[in-house]
Amino acid sequence: MNVYDGWRIAAMLEHRGMHRTETVSDADIIILNTCAVRAKATDKVFSALGRIRRAKKPSALFGIVGCVARESGADAFRRIPDLNFVLGPQSYHKLPEILDNPDAKLLNIDLGGLEKFDELPQMEKSPTVAYIPIQEGCNHCCTYCIVPYTRGREISRKFQDCVSDTIHAANTGAIEICFLGQNVNGYKYTDEKGKTYRLSDLIREAAKIESVKRIRFTSSYPTEMTDDLIDMFAVEPKLLPFLNMPIQSGSQDVLTRMNRPYSLELYTEIIRKLRVARPDIQISSDFIVGFPGETDEDFEQTMNIAQQIRYINSYSFKYSPRPHTGAALMTDQIPENIKAARLAALDNCLNEIQREFNINCIDKTMECLLEGDDKTGRHLIYRTPYMQQCVVEKPDTNTPAPVLANICITAANKASLRGKFAKTSE
Ligand code: SAH
Repeated sequence: MNVYDGWRIAAMLEHRGMHRTETVSDADIIILNTCAVRAKATDKVFSALGRIRRAKKPSALFGIVGCVARESGADAFRRIPDLNFVLGPQSYHKLPEILDNPDAKLLNIDLGGLEKFDELPQMEKSPTVAYIPIQEGCNHCCTYCIVPYTRGREISRKFQDCVSDTIHAANTGAIEICFLGQNVNGYKYTDEKGKTYRLSDLIREAAKIESVKRIRFTSSYPTEMTDDLIDMFAVEPKLLPFLNMPIQSGSQDVLTRMNRPYSLELYTEIIRKLRVARPDIQISSDFIVGFPGETDEDFEQTMNIAQQIRYINSYSFKYSPRPHTGAALMTDQIPENIKAARLAALDNCLNEIQREFNINCIDKTMECLLEGDDKTGRHLIYRTPYMQQCVVEKPDTNTPAPVLANICITAANKASLRGKFAKTSE
């Protein structure tokens, strides 16, 4: 979502005749697009602001947009007095106001709902992977999570707006469509005639577009994985066989205190149904270790579920107390050294499962999407249908590399695969 917001901010400024620079000291405006989900992310923003302040031209405007702006509000101006703007994730379309009035202190952390989508200029060219936001905010209110505070309550965009953004992206270069939302599979829009549209309807529309070859969506909440959506994995080959469906913990007690009121039986039943619908599907998850009150037994259950489900790729984090959340007030916080030891143990286990899956891919041929050159310029980076990175030697020809290619996997480690071109796709 932040990558998408970053594109829109850049496009908005380019629309006003500005262009990008990689160097802070050259810039006339410096914007930090921020994440507040863990305390470390927020701390990094303020230390980066300190560095930018010293490196920038005295006349350059600088400020923050996104969730840290929303979290800090006016306090950001107290911490960094020469900051010029602080704009929340739903008000960054107001950024041009600071260009028109550079002496002002621009503060707007309103939850403007979908207003930004109506006001932002259309992007002229889509990247190969187009992010299409279909809803913002979240109503689940997990007790650790700051997102409902920073991004507000759930609101779904009009079905027709999502479809026309998808068509526009496809017409301007997108091959892969990634539907986005904090609670993306909770997407629900009822039109004037009373007809309700879900994520499965959007997937069906996107799949009808000839030039769209791959479809995915993120982030999903387990109990919003309704049967119509699971069925899409059976009937729609363009939908990638990969799903991030965070479990967070393998302990029922911890899940209850996280206010994630699904049973482990229900979660595993959803995965079973997904595997029936699409036998080659693979699942990834997010985990939080060291949630307040987490015992050794609770943590053991998290290790067990990771082994049982065999997630091929996961994100795991130490619990970080956040403002505006219930869990930050719980009294039985876990000491840092225990959190660190649990994270290391879980990461070991997840890495081993990931490595095993990657090694199993050797000798298989997969249709992959070109991402670009690697740092050396000698290799091409492709993405497999499971979002693994695959490195391919650049052919010695002047013809451009195929955007979609059948690639045979030749080697693997935990982090990435190596491959060679098999037969090029049409
Ligand atoms: N569904 C949300 C989740 C965002 S946060 C969205 O996509 O916007 C991504 C992940 O960060 C969560 O799944 C969770 O595992 C982790 N996370 C959220 N709050 C956290 C906290 N307070 N401490 C540690 N990890 C956290």
